[in-house]
Amino acid sequence: MKRKQFLVIGAGRFGSSVARTLYEQGHDVLVVDSNEAIVQQISDKVTHAVAANATSEEALEALGVQEFDVVVVAIGHEMQNSIMVSILLKELGARYIVAKAQTELHGKVLRKIGVNRVVFPERDMGQKLAHSLVSRNIIDLIELSETYSVVEVEAPQEMVGRTLQDLNLRVRYGINVIALRRGEKDTNISPGGEDKIAPGDVIVAVGENKALKKLGWI
Ligand code: ATP
Repeated sequence: MKRKQFLVIGAGRFGSSVARTLYEQGHDVLVVDSNEAIVQQISDKVTHAVAANATSEEALEALGVQEFDVVVVAIGHEMQNSIMVSILLKELGARYIVAKAQTELHGKVLRKIGVNRVVFPERDMGQKLAHSLVSRNIIDLIELSETYSVVEVEAPQEMVGRTLQDLNLRVRYGINVIALRRGEKDTNISPGGEDKIAPGDVIVAVGENKALKKLGWI
């Protein structure tokens, strides 16, 4: 894996989690936060941490933002700061910007500015939790677009003992089973018609949200 250079601006709960994970994965991570105490706390868990106000153009310029592979703007609550920092990063030539949005409108503004990827951690986690609480056996859900999702579900009882050919999900629902997982170690990543669902199997499937809903999978 190629070692990458990351700049994380704002080390609240989200930013510090992103920064620490990247560092643990062997990447170079520079963290910037305006709060000295937060900088102190994180300094031994990342490559380098500095106290600076990222809404200052001089401060950002001094960091050499265009040198980083990815810049993460992890300021959520102070929306104005998040927007200002993102504009400055664009102007200074940051190569790829990921920013956390607190609301849909905040996200819209960030996209207009030209932020490459906008994330909504609270909204997404809330949706995942809600799905997992109301849908049977759902383990994970990735929304590919507004129309399609990938789901990971525990095989429903009525499917146990049947083969993928019997279930015929592709023809009946337009759903493709892309993996079958049995226990920790045994994952079949190209399941075929002859593969039989066993109790406790985990099905990973991709399909239209409408169809996944019919099965109670989202
Ligand atoms: P989380 O939910 O991840 O804890 P949050 O959404 O509450 O974070 P904020 O508290 O607004 O986000 O900001 C996260 C961090 O960003 C804080 O530690 C704050 O000190 C820092 N921060 C806010 N504005 C700036 C700025 N202009 N320059 C540098 N750091 C900033």
